[in-house]
Amino acid sequence: MDKVPLFYHEKYGEYSFGKFHPFNPNRFQTFVEEIQKEDKMNSEVEIMESPIVEDEILETVHKTEYIRKVEEMEKTGGSLTMDTPVKKGTPDAARRIVGGSLQAAKMIDERDFSINLGGLHHAGPDYGEGFCIFNDVAVATQFLLDQGKDVVVFDTDAHQGNGTMDIFEKHPRVLFISIHQDPATLYPGKGYVQEIGENEGRGYKINIPMPRDANIADYHHAIEEIVRPVVGQFSPDVFIRNGGSDPHHADSLTDLALDMRGLKYLGETSRKMAAKNGAGYIDLMLSGYGRRVVEGWKAITIGSLGVDVPVPSDQKIGDLDYDPKKEIVETAKKLKSILGDYWDF
Ligand SMILES: [Zn+2]
Repeated sequence: MDKVPLFYHEKYGEYSFGKFHPFNPNRFQTFVEEIQKEDKMNSEVEIMESPIVEDEILETVHKTEYIRKVEEMEKTGGSLTMDTPVKKGTPDAARRIVGGSLQAAKMIDERDFSINLGGLHHAGPDYGEGFCIFNDVAVATQFLLDQGKDVVVFDTDAHQGNGTMDIFEKHPRVLFISIHQDPATLYPGKGYVQEIGENEGRGYKINIPMPRDANIADYHHAIEEIVRPVVGQFSPDVFIRNGGSDPHHADSLTDLALDMRGLKYLGETSRKMAAKNGAGYIDLMLSGYGRRVVEGWKAITIGSLGVDVPVPSDQKIGDLDYDPKKEIVETAKKLKSILGDYWDF
């Protein structure tokens, strides 16, 4: 069996916004070291170096003026938004991260499962925000579209994937499904159930807002009721999951309540959904704030690889057999009615 490429480059460590910013750039190297320490995981993956990408690749999803603006800002100093300063070296690190996701897409026919430490989903056609400068998820997706492949992007980050959604808003061959904390209570304030895409893309963008304290039973309900049936009908060639550890209850920026088993479940169920549909699978992890980021990424990866490595259960509530919260039951019902013209439930 071919090993699973894990795209990485030491320059990922330069994806930084300054010492006091919640995004800790040590995460990349620490994660790779953690994997190498765990024989059952290390034997499954093969670390591959991410190439840097040039403007013409970024221009497949970003406007040239935006790329120039980032370049200018790197020289003069400045911020895309208050939380996203452009430091020296950060744009090139972003170009490496994009390179990793693009490489995973390029190799999909020979390696049907790859991992990259990416997922810069808040960068849109002509903007960067939310700690995201260039959108690697979108670049990989656009590449696959150009190869004639239909793509599912399943965004499990606690924050809605506004940049990716904007880029493919009108595109019917990208089924974008974001499951995230209720935008009324968290950045980016987008991703309500009514947002289902535009023009030809209508029905192919699905937003599932989760109540605060959503646990594994709530996620399970949303996935079984909405995500699985829609993915099955869409029948993708490639399934991309993106999102790091920020739905974990210990995350310092969010209010969701998955435990480590919940993160493992996200990796496991996504990979299985891809396999069930005969689709290639790309797993992207980058986000997470606080002290349990790398542990969370590891839990996701244990799930996606399907390896027998114990994951701590640090929460008593939220087993799969618990009843989901009434808010998510209501949300699922609403989504089925809104999406009923496009999908069978
Ligand atoms: Zn996030």
